[in-house]
Amino acid sequence: MKTDAHKRITSFMPPHRTLMGPGPSDVSQRVLDAMARPTIGHLDPAFVEMMEEMKTLLRYAFQTENDLTFPISAPGSVGMESCFVNLVEPGDQVIVCVNGVFGGRMVENVKRCGGTPIVIQDAWGAPVDPNKVGDAFKANPNVKVLAFVHAETSTGVQSDAKTLAEIARRQGALTIVDAVTSLAGTKLLVDAWGLDAVYSGSQKCLSCTPGLSPVTFSPRVVETVKARKAHGQSWFMDLSLVLGYWTAAKRTYHHTAPINALYGLHESLVMLQEEGLEHSWARHHANHLKLKAGLEQLGIEFLVAEPYRLPQLNTIKIPSGVDDAKTRSRLLNEYNLEIGAGLGDLAGKVWRIGLMGYGSCEANVNKCLAALGEVLA
Ligand SMILES: *Cc1c(COP(=O)(O)O)cnc(C)c1O
Repeated sequence: MKTDAHKRITSFMPPHRTLMGPGPSDVSQRVLDAMARPTIGHLDPAFVEMMEEMKTLLRYAFQTENDLTFPISAPGSVGMESCFVNLVEPGDQVIVCVNGVFGGRMVENVKRCGGTPIVIQDAWGAPVDPNKVGDAFKANPNVKVLAFVHAETSTGVQSDAKTLAEIARRQGALTIVDAVTSLAGTKLLVDAWGLDAVYSGSQKCLSCTPGLSPVTFSPRVVETVKARKAHGQSWFMDLSLVLGYWTAAKRTYHHTAPINALYGLHESLVMLQEEGLEHSWARHHANHLKLKAGLEQLGIEFLVAEPYRLPQLNTIKIPSGVDDAKTRSRLLNEYNLEIGAGLGDLAGKVWRIGLMGYGSCEANVNKCLAALGEVLA
């Protein structure tokens, strides 16, 4: 036996933190309670009924009538990958807008599917420039897909999904849209904006635990997948197979759904329905304004120009002379408060303060401002 005989390992008891980073966000007791309910079989009629409700609730959250709307049994990154492996075949041209970390991952996905990425760069901290997208379509008339991130969590920037999707539709191209951080936090209208393949995550503004990726696919996506010349490289993510699990009248086994995690997502979507989507957007905006007012009193500046700021992810410049890592570890150890560090070129230069989902509340705004004020003093 190779186990460490000196230490008897006992149950893990996590500390109580306030999660104000880029996700996961605070999970309500109501969602945690839902996840503690009895595990039943994933083909049990009661479970199948819950799956049907889940699809209805997700259609509301995404503002879509798309039949094919369900949570993928994996984190947001797999939602992203599912869009690419299903829609991008070898040789396909894909315009990818990169203005942060997640756009960069989209480029990787296109390459791994054998597609040709046409990369449009915008500065980290700036939104995607629709004019550049229009020019790229003019120069490349055979582009099949336009891919972009609606809410770039690495920088706190919101891009104009409606305008970008209009450009793509005019050119007959499909859109792949990252709505991981935008869903339920800022306005997202999948049908009205004509978005095609949209993926999100459970742990940002839905405030469920991580590990699930709500997705929605337009009828045009379904047609495109059915018309594929050959299967994509992934068995697990093959939409034509997942369909039999989530949409067929008679369910067939594809994989075992993460039963209790889905109870949690169901509960968080019920909470969203109770609050109302517009109210959720308004609450995120109002708490952002409160945080902004307090930060400005502390002399702290935002990275992103005002019209493009995400209310649910506030990227602020670290005041000069302040130690990034030391400050964050004091916030964690002395105040049980987690905020996010900068990524890539922004590492050491910014902090990312999340006000997502259940965590977008006045108590969190006040806690964060008080703690920052004390630590920076
Ligand atoms: C968090 C995030 C992802 C990845 O989601 P995971 O659940 O961590 O895999 C993708 N895109 C954006 C914009 C995100 O914020």
